[in-house]
Amino acid sequence: MKIPCIDLHTHSTASDGTDSPAEVVSKAVEAGVSALALTDHDTLDGLAAAEKAADGTGLIFVRGCEISTETPWGEAHFLGLWIPRDLERTAALEKALEDVRAKRLARNMGMAEKLQALGFDVSYKAAAELAGGRVVGRPHFAELLCRLGVVKDRKEAFRLYLGEGCSAYEPRELMPPERAISLLKEAGALVSMAHPRLLHASVAELAQLLERLKPAGLDALEAYHSEHNAGDVRECIELADRFGLQLTGGSDYHGLPKPKIALGSGKGGLRVARHVYDKLMEYRAACGMTD
Ligand code: AMP
Ligand code: ZN
Ligand code: FE
Ligand code: FE
Repeated sequence: MKIPCIDLHTHSTASDGTDSPAEVVSKAVEAGVSALALTDHDTLDGLAAAEKAADGTGLIFVRGCEISTETPWGEAHFLGLWIPRDLERTAALEKALEDVRAKRLARNMGMAEKLQALGFDVSYKAAAELAGGRVVGRPHFAELLCRLGVVKDRKEAFRLYLGEGCSAYEPRELMPPERAISLLKEAGALVSMAHPRLLHASVAELAQLLERLKPAGLDALEAYHSEHNAGDVRECIELADRFGLQLTGGSDYHGLPKPKIALGSGKGGLRVARHVYDKLMEYRAACGMTD
């Protein structure tokens, strides 16, 4: 059944999703999504293809990306939404993403070595081939471990080997949140903190972080997310009110790596209403943001 909704957080084969950008678009149309953002990790590579696929379908396509950062409470992710097409405006962002991908490569080589030391026939080359694009991530290594038959699913691969602190875990050097925010803002994007309640922080600690990030230019909180329960949503809305932030929402669709998460509806209960998109457009207009 088609339930009208929007989805401002999705991944494709340009990073660690398993649908091509054009497939993400066609599945979104099928699911009744009226506005879709593609927000691949550390790259803008899928945006042109997705935008082309959306042309003529009636779907509103929003150019995005997701950047991981380091905080005292673990990784915080930031979504840049409405990233301009103008290459001059995005040049500094593209350059910074290149650097992020280089650090990713170093991490991936280290992870492959650790997996080999554990006796698994897993190489960086195989992960890169599986990824296809320029962003290779832990989900690709998880898939290789599944194919070897040494774990029962991707979740187990993270729990036993790839998750933080596990035997094949290799840390990745990440930027501070202020840097991700300024890179995205300077490119002209709207910046939302992704899945804020997945941070290992209490509401009071999250408030402490937002105290820092609001003056750094943070625009919004992703209150609506597949992994947020009703209490998480309410807490995000209260924090957004308190800090004068907008609200965004999306499924964090990846395709096969997260088989329970569907476009638009997440784990079944997600429905980000169209007025969330309309309010963001009003906010962008009031701030003079153009894409
Ligand atoms: P990376 O950016 O390469 O370090 O990989 C992080 C990505 O792995 C996240 O964005 C998620 O998509 C995925 N991920 C992280 N933890 C888990 C987990 N426990 N189970 C499945 N996927 C995970
Ligand atoms: Zn991902
Ligand atoms: Fe994320
Ligand atoms: Fe994501």
